[in-house]
Amino acid sequence: MKLGGLEAGGTKMVCAVGDREGTVLEREMFPTLTPNETIPHIVDFFARHEISALGVGGFGPLDLMEGSETYGFITNTPKTAWIDYPLLDTLKQKLDVPVKLTTDVNAAALAESEKGAAKGLDSCLYITVGTGIGAGAMVHGEMLHGLSHPEMGHISIPRHKADTFKGICSYHNDCLEGLAAGPAIEARWGESGHALAEKPEVWEMEAHYLAEALVQYILILMPKKIVLGGGVMKQPQLFPLIETHVKKRIGSYVPFLEDRNYIVPPGLGDNAGVTGALLLGHQALEEAQAV
Ligand code: ZN
Repeated sequence: MKLGGLEAGGTKMVCAVGDREGTVLEREMFPTLTPNETIPHIVDFFARHEISALGVGGFGPLDLMEGSETYGFITNTPKTAWIDYPLLDTLKQKLDVPVKLTTDVNAAALAESEKGAAKGLDSCLYITVGTGIGAGAMVHGEMLHGLSHPEMGHISIPRHKADTFKGICSYHNDCLEGLAAGPAIEARWGESGHALAEKPEVWEMEAHYLAEALVQYILILMPKKIVLGGGVMKQPQLFPLIETHVKKRIGSYVPFLEDRNYIVPPGLGDNAGVTGALLLGHQALEEAQAV
């Protein structure tokens, strides 16, 4: 019995076949072009492997409100070819297996709590800082959903004193994503993050924004572990800067922050999202069998 996991990202689609423990047995990647160009590759990969169920961690925003007419659709994404695309129904119809869908960051949070840096904990927060910023939370061992999935990348945060950049979020200008995602770093400093690795002022400002966001997430959710992934977090100097800033802001209020292993990189590395999708595929199978 094989399960499928799809990490449907804005730039690439990672398809994996694995077992019910979320072990990746085979994987392939395709660039995310238009649905007409991309979906046939995905369907072909999973059909070839004769999977029994599929889990999908997708880029969003997604409509995850059960009962909604557009449940399982990608909604108003900046990737215009995918606006109002019925991702869940399309995959269900074409593959004829149970499919479960959540956000890419929720899938990564699930994987990190079952098999990664937050293993054994019933609560954690997974945040990706890359072309966008998003976060998924595990609360009481379940992925946190309300009306839909959380949108933690778009909160407002206090400005860094030296920052005059106006922000680039197309909805809110200077929300967290508009100030601190990879494209914001590049627009503010005129070079990509990789080229700026040796400039401490860049990372001091970036750590300020990420730490200010973490302070709010911690105070509201009190996650037992915070996992920071995504391309921007490949700059290892960010971790100690963020940790110091968070402790300075709320360390005396929240004593467990003294734990040096509280804010960590993903235990599963770049496989967190696709592993979570496989685990979600297992949930889809169990739910279908329980009916
Ligand atoms: Zn925003």
